[in-house]
Amino acid sequence: METMRAPFASKTIVIVGGGVIGLSTAYYASLRGHQVTVVDRNERDHLGCSFGNAGMVVPSHFVPLAAPGMVARGLKWMWNPESPFYIKPRLSWDLLSWGLRFCRASTSAHVQRCAPLLRDLHLESRECFEELSGLAGDSFGFEKRGLLMLCKTWHTLEEEAKTADEAALLGIPAKVLSAKETAQLDPNVRMDIAGSVYFPKDCHLTPLRFMQALHRLLEASGVHFEWSTDILAWRKKQNRIQALETSRGDFVADEYVLCGGSWSQAMAAQLGLNLPMQAGKGYSLTLPNPRQLPSICSILTEARLAATPMGNTLRFGGTMEISGLNEDVDPARVRGIVKSVPQYFPEFSTEDFQGIAPWHGLRPCSPDGMPYVGRFGQFKNLSTATGHAMMGLSLGPVTGKLMAQILSDEPAMIDLSLVNPDRYASWI
Ligand SMILES: Cc1cc2nc3c(=O)[nH]c(=O)nc-3n(C[C@H](O)[C@H](O)[C@H](O)COP(=O)(O)OP(=O)(O)OC[C@H]3O[C@@H](n4cnc5c(N)ncnc54)[C@H](O)[C@@H]3O)c2cc1C
Repeated sequence: METMRAPFASKTIVIVGGGVIGLSTAYYASLRGHQVTVVDRNERDHLGCSFGNAGMVVPSHFVPLAAPGMVARGLKWMWNPESPFYIKPRLSWDLLSWGLRFCRASTSAHVQRCAPLLRDLHLESRECFEELSGLAGDSFGFEKRGLLMLCKTWHTLEEEAKTADEAALLGIPAKVLSAKETAQLDPNVRMDIAGSVYFPKDCHLTPLRFMQALHRLLEASGVHFEWSTDILAWRKKQNRIQALETSRGDFVADEYVLCGGSWSQAMAAQLGLNLPMQAGKGYSLTLPNPRQLPSICSILTEARLAATPMGNTLRFGGTMEISGLNEDVDPARVRGIVKSVPQYFPEFSTEDFQGIAPWHGLRPCSPDGMPYVGRFGQFKNLSTATGHAMMGLSLGPVTGKLMAQILSDEPAMIDLSLVNPDRYASWI
């Protein structure tokens, strides 16, 4: 259990961003005795990316988004308005250079380099969730029941079976199941599938309740919050940040941490730092009274759609729409989600979703599918934790733990060279 208090100097720390990454960093930094302030431009209860997501904790996700086959698949999906992946063509240098870097990173060598790190991070985070669940009185519905990759076709099942083999090589348990075996594992729900891969180490939780539990833990440990506070500029002198100028005055601290999700790139750019990022918009729809309630969370593999039981409700979440930093809802993408559900769960119909308002969130996506975690070389007291794309909830606590080590000038418990925030610095 992480109860250590500062054997080193306690610092004042300002964290920009009150999403899951900012709050997790605040939590572990405050455990080490630092005085932490979280600044966010939104209200405390706005439902940003960290609140309405699919709530999955996923050691099974050891393959980064930038992987072989993704570019071809993306190009194919581009022409279908209801497909799960879409890049809106637009004249943007940022988008073009992000796309080129994404293509360059989508190699098997990159996947092989990143997979062991992602495995270690997810597994460590899973332990943190267990601990946090105990501390929060089991208040956020943390369930260690595994995850099913549901496959409609034999071809997909064969592909997923290969991933299961790779998982086994990495020491992540995974089992290929027939349709009958899958039904036995979750008899509460009728499925129309060829089979599935079961990852018993994966878990699920209710993200809104997790965020509320974190708020409570943080308030109890004296972390200070400044909501509705917009970052305007950084004040710097040589290689140090001197102050953060905000819509509600200046904040001065020993350390500054950028956890601004999809907006981090713009805030880093104010300092001349290059943190390439695209917002990957996703949607979720939550049925309050589902016809059937699975007990295990699943991914409807071909549809790239997550299905997560949260209490008595059932959430479907998916779509990766790279269309810029905007809050527009594309009804065709939402329709794509709704239409996919009955294909896997035939008891459900598209009518079940009538009147259900779609939630949307902007995932912060780096071009190589790996987060940015660590100090910037150019500034002695500025670090970042962002760019976690589809894994920000799952990697939240371990990121917070690592950031607390970095902020305390301790060596990080895991080698972080693959997530170095300066890795695109020379490409400006
Ligand atoms: C449909 C969907 C399903 C998902 N499912 C999962 C899942 O099952 N498991 C998983 O691990 N991940 C999942 N994710 C991804 C996960 O939600 C994100 O990776 C994570 O929420 C990112 O957290 P963050 O703290 O980096 O960013 P955010 O939650 O976006 O937080 C950033 C914060 O910075 C603040 N900010 C920005 N600019 C400023 C400024 N100028 N001044 C002050 N504050 C500012 C924002 O207000 C915001 O509160 C899903 C995402 C989506 C969209």
